[in-house]
Amino acid sequence: MSFVDRVQITVVAGNGGNGRMSFRHEKFINKGGPDGGDGGNGGDIILLASRNQNTLSTFRYRKIIEAESGQPGGQSRKHGRSAPDLLLAVPVGTAATTLTNEVIADLTEDGQQAIIAKGGRGGYGNAHFVSSRRQAPKIAEKGEPGETQEIKLELKMIADVGLIGLPNAGKSTLLNKLSNAHPEVGDYPFTTLTPHLGVTDIDNTTSILIADIPGLIKGASTGKGLGHDFLRHVERTSVILHMIDAYSPDIVTAYLEIKTELEAYKSELINRPEIVAINKVEGLDSEIVDDLIKQLQNAAPKATPIFAISAQTGYGLRPMLYTIKETIQKAIANKPKAPIVPAVPVLTISDSQRQNEWQVIVKGKKFIVSGVKIEQFAKRTDFNSVSGTDRLFDIMKKMGILNELNRQNIKVGQTIQFGTDPKSKLTY
Ligand code: GDP
Ligand code: MG
Repeated sequence: MSFVDRVQITVVAGNGGNGRMSFRHEKFINKGGPDGGDGGNGGDIILLASRNQNTLSTFRYRKIIEAESGQPGGQSRKHGRSAPDLLLAVPVGTAATTLTNEVIADLTEDGQQAIIAKGGRGGYGNAHFVSSRRQAPKIAEKGEPGETQEIKLELKMIADVGLIGLPNAGKSTLLNKLSNAHPEVGDYPFTTLTPHLGVTDIDNTTSILIADIPGLIKGASTGKGLGHDFLRHVERTSVILHMIDAYSPDIVTAYLEIKTELEAYKSELINRPEIVAINKVEGLDSEIVDDLIKQLQNAAPKATPIFAISAQTGYGLRPMLYTIKETIQKAIANKPKAPIVPAVPVLTISDSQRQNEWQVIVKGKKFIVSGVKIEQFAKRTDFNSVSGTDRLFDIMKKMGILNELNRQNIKVGQTIQFGTDPKSKLTY
């Protein structure tokens, strides 16, 4: 099974159904009033974090995802059916971003949801547009198109321990020894092409999740080698376990090479609690081992725990695991509490979209419309000129504000105020 950790998909929310234009046909009445119904809303596309998903691999084969459209409105004010929302199950830990890396959603808990493409609103049928100005309206709205978004999904493993080290340090061997995960083991660099997770029970109450990060080489952070692409997997680990081959030509150089890479990739990683493991010591004299430890003590930050182990024989693993456990617990205790995430995280929207946002609040008999763009238009409107106010009505219609006013039961003769200026107003 290959581990898919990043996919790009196109999501297309459903279109709103068109509003209907029709007139009542009644016996003895030549021309009845307008009775065209509203279109139904298009389906949203929603990400749903699920414990039952482990990979993003389903999206390998499903790059374009479309939700259903709403049905058009019918005669006799019949509403078109709204389309169901389309739920896409993704693993817990999946982040969704735009192609320009704006974060849309970061799903860290089972059951969390995020709307990634909004369905279009259904258009109003002509039955909605009865006013003193339009007694027998021959207009019905088209449904809004659903949003189309290009989205990157990224699965960041949330592991407690990120296992790092030069190729052949023995990372895969250690994970293999410690857990029931079976990463490839080989004698050559880059056998581990994909990250692997392993679960290790430390005692009856504690188990830790270890992520094996593929071998780093000098320059990995600038794109050379394979390690770089997976380095971001360590981003959220509480502890870094840095493995070093005891047989490295120069153990300090080997240690610093990885540290430099971490720094180059993302400076905050360098501040993660680190535990150093000198591996493959099973055949070495204790004086040699002591000397290696001393060399690293001088090179590593003060108080960095350093262990001599053998991933192969299991020598030294117990005490190291206890220190790992303690370090994780300390790191968790020090972490700022995660903010409470709403069930449906708010979609991040770009500034241009924000400009288009508006809202309608009813205050007494006044309908107050606020929003950057619509208030700007209102400011440019000559309220004494019919063509000016007509234009503003048209803009409000295009922006969907008229729909909302209707929805809030605005009556002919009532006042629409724009923003906080009481002089900026229209009569409906
Ligand atoms: P990785 O690249 O860090 O994942 O390293 P591997 O786990 O693939 O190990 C590289 C080589 O080192 C393999 O041939 C392993 O058998 C060997 N190796 C790993 N751990 C030990 C150890 O504790 N002692 C000895 N002698 N060899 C080891
Ligand atoms: Mg490996």
